[in-house]
Amino acid sequence: MRFISTSGRSPPADLREALFRGLAPDGGLYLPEALRPLPGKLLSGLRGAPFPGTAFTVATHLLEGALPAPELERVVGEALDFPIPLVSLTDRVYVLELFHGPTCAFKDVGARFMARLIARYRARDDPPLTMLVATSGDTGGAVAHAFFDLPGTRVVVLYPEGKVSPLQERQFTTLGGNVTALAVAGTFDDCQRLVKQAFADPDLRHLRLTSANSINIGRLLPQIFYYFHAWAQLPETPPELILSVPSGNLGNLTAGLMAKRLGLPVTKFVAATNLNDVVPEYLATGIFTPRASVATLSTAMDVGNPSNFPRMLSLYGGDVDRMREDVDGHAYTDDQTRAMLARAYADWGYLLDPHSTVACLGLAQAMSDRAHATGVFLATAHPAKFAEVVEPRIGRKLELPARLAACLGWEPHVARVGNTLEELKALLRWS
Ligand SMILES: *Cc1c(COP(=O)(O)O)cnc(C)c1O
Repeated sequence: MRFISTSGRSPPADLREALFRGLAPDGGLYLPEALRPLPGKLLSGLRGAPFPGTAFTVATHLLEGALPAPELERVVGEALDFPIPLVSLTDRVYVLELFHGPTCAFKDVGARFMARLIARYRARDDPPLTMLVATSGDTGGAVAHAFFDLPGTRVVVLYPEGKVSPLQERQFTTLGGNVTALAVAGTFDDCQRLVKQAFADPDLRHLRLTSANSINIGRLLPQIFYYFHAWAQLPETPPELILSVPSGNLGNLTAGLMAKRLGLPVTKFVAATNLNDVVPEYLATGIFTPRASVATLSTAMDVGNPSNFPRMLSLYGGDVDRMREDVDGHAYTDDQTRAMLARAYADWGYLLDPHSTVACLGLAQAMSDRAHATGVFLATAHPAKFAEVVEPRIGRKLELPARLAACLGWEPHVARVGNTLEELKALLRWS
């Protein structure tokens, strides 16, 4: 399997090269060169299968021998070692819970798979790799946990001091070992700028800095697998299937669209967003207008210029009409989100976090005029991670899952860094 750039001016890359480069040399994003449908027999054989088996079957088909089978099986088995249950809310509405990984966020799926692929491709005598990641919340924790203790790697997380939630901060400041947390005196944008500058700096080349952000194809691939898993856990193939995805940078949705190309029988995807609605707007008007993000309750989806949009566009040859055949776009306010969150608890006794709630709203809207459709929405974070939003809506306290509660009791290790490349460089060389 080769990977081609969405900008079309770089030569195709193999998996290893696409993984280590992150961006293609022409600035484009890597996509698989071909997405051939899974043979019908393989697809029907997935029904009821456990997740690692489904992931391995789809990965083998998609990657076409990029890794020997036993190694691919090991990467899949080690990375995706937590449950991804499909929970039934009614006989037609289901939720795919993606938040049972170590940091209770769906980003664990992508980060853990990428980490193990990178560890696999690193030659034994290579110097250590440094993953440099800027985070405004969930990404830092997921990447730090994914690489924690992985030989030959270290992670440096940059985050804006005082601007991530205490729980999120604890998730990447308490690991120690090969994980270093740097609190930057500045904003998330400053962190991202510092990371970009560090990648471009010749003085740091010897550190072999690598990017772990969501444009890396290694994070996208495993997200394809769980769409097949969602379908495979339905009692039978529904006549119509709607999948609603809470969307920010569009990695999750793009993976779903790739799953459809690989033969997954999905009638329609919903790009469900908060008021950062550039994609619903694009689907409505055909015009893509990136802009500054606005703050909402679903913070991880506060994205004004979604980084995976070029991939999404490329899958449809830049044709908005073709994209509309597969994707509906809907955007929701915080008030609508609060109301739906309360209703899901009242009607179904089901707890949603604000991101998953946006997907639930999108599903309800898409199913309203389809009497025979079955719907699945993706739940991307554990509700207890957003207790300050959820608790007032449901009128009771939430219990933190044990793995989140544990890190609150551990000692944080943080180095402070000013807002300049010189300070960051001094710390990177020294640590
Ligand atoms: C990152 C994130 C999203 C958005 O996913 P994209 O792939 O960037 O569209 C949604 N929900 C949660 C909880 C997230 O952390």
